[in-house]
Amino acid sequence: MTKKDASQSRAIVAGAGIGGLAAAAAAAKYFDEVLLFEKDPTPERRSARPGVAQGRHTHLMLRGGAAALDSLLPGFSDDMAGAGAAVYDVGADFPVFDYNSWRSRFRHDVPMQIMSRPALEHLLCDRVTRLDNVSIRHRESVESIVLENGEVRGVRLKGRDGAETLSADFVVDARGRSGALARDLAAAGYGDTPETVIGIDMTYSSGHFRLPRPAGDTDKAMLFRCDPPGTRFGLITAIEDGEWSVTLAGRGEDAPPTDLSGFFAYAKSFDTDRFYEFIKDGELVGDLHRYKKPKAVWRRFDQLNEFPARLAPIGDVITSFNPIFAQGMTVAALQAVALSETLSDHAANDGGFFRAYIDKALVASESAWRLAALTDFAYPQVTGEAPPDVETFSQLTHAVKLVADENPAVQRTFLKVIHMEEPETVLQTPEIMALVMQKLGELNASSGV
Ligand SMILES: Cc1cc2nc3c(=O)[nH]c(=O)nc-3n(C[C@H](O)[C@H](O)[C@H](O)COP(=O)(O)OP(=O)(O)OC[C@H]3O[C@@H](n4cnc5c(N)ncnc54)[C@H](O)[C@@H]3O)c2cc1C
Repeated sequence: MTKKDASQSRAIVAGAGIGGLAAAAAAAKYFDEVLLFEKDPTPERRSARPGVAQGRHTHLMLRGGAAALDSLLPGFSDDMAGAGAAVYDVGADFPVFDYNSWRSRFRHDVPMQIMSRPALEHLLCDRVTRLDNVSIRHRESVESIVLENGEVRGVRLKGRDGAETLSADFVVDARGRSGALARDLAAAGYGDTPETVIGIDMTYSSGHFRLPRPAGDTDKAMLFRCDPPGTRFGLITAIEDGEWSVTLAGRGEDAPPTDLSGFFAYAKSFDTDRFYEFIKDGELVGDLHRYKKPKAVWRRFDQLNEFPARLAPIGDVITSFNPIFAQGMTVAALQAVALSETLSDHAANDGGFFRAYIDKALVASESAWRLAALTDFAYPQVTGEAPPDVETFSQLTHAVKLVADENPAVQRTFLKVIHMEEPETVLQTPEIMALVMQKLGELNASSGV
């Protein structure tokens, strides 16, 4: 911890989702006081908040995200295990069906932990608010960020006791995907924030279940993804309290039902019986819930001509992804690490702060966006400007997966990329590329190309 000057007495974080809580943990090292404002009530361990309605749906924290939280809050993984997270091996205990076949399973002795989103957020909130200089005010909404003379002055709040303006030396906007920051910037004369949008048109239906499992079975999760032009997707994960979170998702008009018999029938329609077999004797706990996600959005604050000093966006404020790739919480956590690293080199009022921060923060956004977009655009229902290399990417990914089916080391490397622990380039060694090119040749020969 180095760069802290007299102007770093109070940081305000707007929004206490995963991004806001992780950002507060990062800022706590550099500011005397960190205040979080969250429009919702205190999070409950077993129910989703209105501001995070997606919390009713299965949320996977990738290993890269868990490591990021651990670096900001040492021992957080142990806290998760202690709070009853399901722990499993990334390669062996998580069967995956894609490219119309089951992927091979190898035990890598690399653990992953899963909790429901409310339980994870409850734990994170508890841990962050136990930091001496961090406090959180629930049911207080940040109406706008106060911007004057090219910098942040504070926030305008609306709470139980009416409106108030509070000064701050630094503000992190973690209000999620609503576009509130872009509106504040436009109102203060910064112009319209450029956006990249992908029309994904996804609908989720999810519920928590008690699932009877055969003795000795180690499976803790299962993923089904149909090939294009199919529309269906499913994810099962063990969570805390001996329950399971089950999500079905569809593209376009193909929305999964929210009545139980329709839900099971949708799962039964998958190109494998195993997904339905896994859940068919399950007992629903509570209700099934629906969530619609029409678009993935990347707000290009980095492309504005000017950006106010002493301000940092994080998480879904910057990039809101197609949820089926399970990237959003991990990107938010990695960006909080980027924030911490930037604050260690730059005072928040230093003119180079924003550029230094956003360059680091976009490393996570860019790699997640690229992987998601290249996969999404293989589906004809998806709208927007497709990257030029969609077809090549899809074939290469298929070939990598087939190589990984035969080679545990390649599977482990591939999983590191998917889990955002390593960049895509780790797959580009001469040895792996030779195997992939050979497999690509076999694929092309078998399809007559
Ligand atoms: C159906 C679905 C499933 C998903 N599954 C996964 C998954 O498996 N893995 C994964 O990593 N990600 C998943 N995501 C994405 C993940 O939910 C988000 O990327 C993640 O929550 C982003 O965190 P955030 O803190 O940026 O935003 P959010 O979690 O949305 O938090 C924003 C917070 O700001 C608060 N807020 C908003 N406006 C104000 C205001 N004016 N004043 C004060 N507070 C305010 C909100 O109440 C909320 O608490 C999924 C998303 C959806 C829709």
